[in-house]
Amino acid sequence: MKKSELNKYPIIWRKDDFFIKIYCSIPNVATGILLTTSKATFIIDPGDGILRDLNKDVGSEIILKVSDIFISHGHHDHVGGVWSLLTYLSVLRRKAELKIYYPFGCAEIESIYKAFNEVYGKELSYQIKLYPIKNEKTFTRHSIKIKPFKVNHRELSSDNISSELIPSLGFKFFYDAKSICYGGDTAFCDSLVKNSKGSDLAIIEAGAEDIESSDLHMTIQQATEIGMTAKEYYLVHVPE
Ligand SMILES: [Zn+2]
Repeated sequence: MKKSELNKYPIIWRKDDFFIKIYCSIPNVATGILLTTSKATFIIDPGDGILRDLNKDVGSEIILKVSDIFISHGHHDHVGGVWSLLTYLSVLRRKAELKIYYPFGCAEIESIYKAFNEVYGKELSYQIKLYPIKNEKTFTRHSIKIKPFKVNHRELSSDNISSELIPSLGFKFFYDAKSICYGGDTAFCDSLVKNSKGSDLAIIEAGAEDIESSDLHMTIQQATEIGMTAKEYYLVHVPE
């Protein structure tokens, strides 16, 4: 991938019935990903603007079909759109249950849900089910196999020097003999190396400004190294 091709959104990839669209992935601003097959409609990391992007792109009929939301970690650029998406589904009088998967210990999702439930719980037209993921067990939803895997994502501590590990996951989606590996945000780590290798598509973050910050994110060089082991790859989350 040429440097000039970085940051051009949306990114669209399709193999037969397996489709993914990355509306954006901009560090500290927003991420937003739609994954579909003829049987499934998933959202991955609904950052700020996801409702606007979905509404403009696919409209309310498809938004109503979203059955599962996958959250890689709780940073605002990955969960900032959750509240509006949940509200809009009730405005549309959704009936089907909505499942939200996220790393165990992710305080942001649980507090968004708690506050949301306090405000709208009584009038909500549908049920929301939270699934905190503790292990790397594979599960299936609408004929897609989902394998969560732990990655190594840190955030700066209040001293602005040291950093601490936060609950964070990547997800590998298998469908129709093809696979998409989404690493979420992470520093270079073995689990991402392993899961990206041989994928039909790897979506790899390259969020580090330089080698000094590569304990929080990957450099373009590190991300490219991993991406090259997949059949195709996109670098995302590159600082603008
Ligand atoms: Zn992050």
